[in-house]
Amino acid sequence: GDTPGRSATKSKAGKLDLMKEYEKRKASNDKENLNMVVIGHVDAGKSTLMGHVLYQLGFVNKKTMHKYEQESRKLGKASFAYAWVLDETDEERSRGVTMDVAQTRFETKSRVITLLDAPGHKDFIPNMITGAAQADVAILVVNATRGEFETGFESGGQTREHAMLIRSLGVSQLVVAINKMDTVGWLKDRYEEIVKKLAQFLKQAGFKENDIAYIPCSGLAGENLTSAPTVAALATWYTGPTLVEQIDNFKLPERQVSKPLRMCVSDVFKGMGSGFSVAGVIHAGAVQPGDRLLVMPQGELLTVKGVLIDDLPMQCAFAGDNVVLTVTGIDMSNVTVGSILCLPNDPIKAVTRFTARIVLLNIDVPITKGFPVVFHYLSTSEPAHIHKLVSLLHKSTGEVTKKKPRCLVKNSSAVIELQLDRPVCIELYKDYKALGRFMLRYAGSTIAAGLITEVSAISL
Ligand code: GDP
Repeated sequence: GDTPGRSATKSKAGKLDLMKEYEKRKASNDKENLNMVVIGHVDAGKSTLMGHVLYQLGFVNKKTMHKYEQESRKLGKASFAYAWVLDETDEERSRGVTMDVAQTRFETKSRVITLLDAPGHKDFIPNMITGAAQADVAILVVNATRGEFETGFESGGQTREHAMLIRSLGVSQLVVAINKMDTVGWLKDRYEEIVKKLAQFLKQAGFKENDIAYIPCSGLAGENLTSAPTVAALATWYTGPTLVEQIDNFKLPERQVSKPLRMCVSDVFKGMGSGFSVAGVIHAGAVQPGDRLLVMPQGELLTVKGVLIDDLPMQCAFAGDNVVLTVTGIDMSNVTVGSILCLPNDPIKAVTRFTARIVLLNIDVPITKGFPVVFHYLSTSEPAHIHKLVSLLHKSTGEVTKKKPRCLVKNSSAVIELQLDRPVCIELYKDYKALGRFMLRYAGSTIAAGLITEVSAISL
């Protein structure tokens, strides 16, 4: 068909009319990409569920699946076979195969879904939290088993913590998978009981009723994932969408195409021919061959020779696209993972101190002024410390409940000033959604998530 980006409208100067190209793209049948994170209490069945979805959709080949089934049976853990689908990804990564490993992306009728931080089975939870910072949408998996849902939902359980975390990071659309329905005889009453409890909590956490859907399913049995339920006990009362149909219903987040370019570099590698390649996500704006771009915070210029999406050369790419750029005119050592590519006349700022609204997780140590942290942002991390505790906020309304608190305790919300050891390129959340979110870690665990609200010290 008519591939957008190749039958292009060019201006006199030979540059594309990018907004026209974007309209063409939107009108085309190309599937839009959506970044999804899977959250929920440990053992809720997240890995099994997503593994089985990938398998049913045909993104895992039969031979591989058979291998997992045999291996897991040998270990007496036949039920782990599907979860291993996701482990493989991790393994491949550790062998150095980078970039979109097939299993971490799948297609629905109208979307390409990228599973963020492809859940390696063992360390799914810590990974989830970094993934949350880039998520457009989320799946919350809860365990319907009697007593288990309740454990995950209690304070200290991860169901609440994760849901609040992603909401505070700006994720507003949620599919709740009410999983392991096989363990409660597919009972409608149990489903409704859980929906009622969650609906009340999620509303308090700031989600809109219309942006949440509740899907009864079983990741292990493979029920109601990609096709209508076959088990009579579920099919008799449930006629709504399947899990994947509901994922397909997610609304696309607004892409900031008309804003100045912001591309975050996630990989730099030598390809064939001259120059080298830079992979990453375009968070705002657009890029096309011939562009002269500024690499920040390095402050060096490069020239874009080619723009590739899924290995295909394009005439342009837009916010929301995962791209590989072939570049020249710069030494490879001057572009690193975490660099931001932008337009020389409208660059991103490198800052050393900013104000942010944060949510603390379930941590043991209280946070005081001067507290050392590691600032995790896009694909980089930098040492930092808490410069000032500005105010304590009400958890759901966001109103200031106390000014200049002496310390912050677990699960609280607050406004702080963060001081970075070295300059980092950031944006305000209100200007660039994806570039205004971050995580703070301490002693190997994530302690807070936040949104950047104000810059207090510019370095470049
Ligand atoms: P995760 O920690 O959330 O990723 O959970 P896993 O996918 O590792 O699953 C935890 C345990 O629950 C494993 O023993 C799975 O076999 C089991 N499990 C997962 N999904 C289901 C389900 O739908 N029904 C039942 N009965 N067990 C399940």
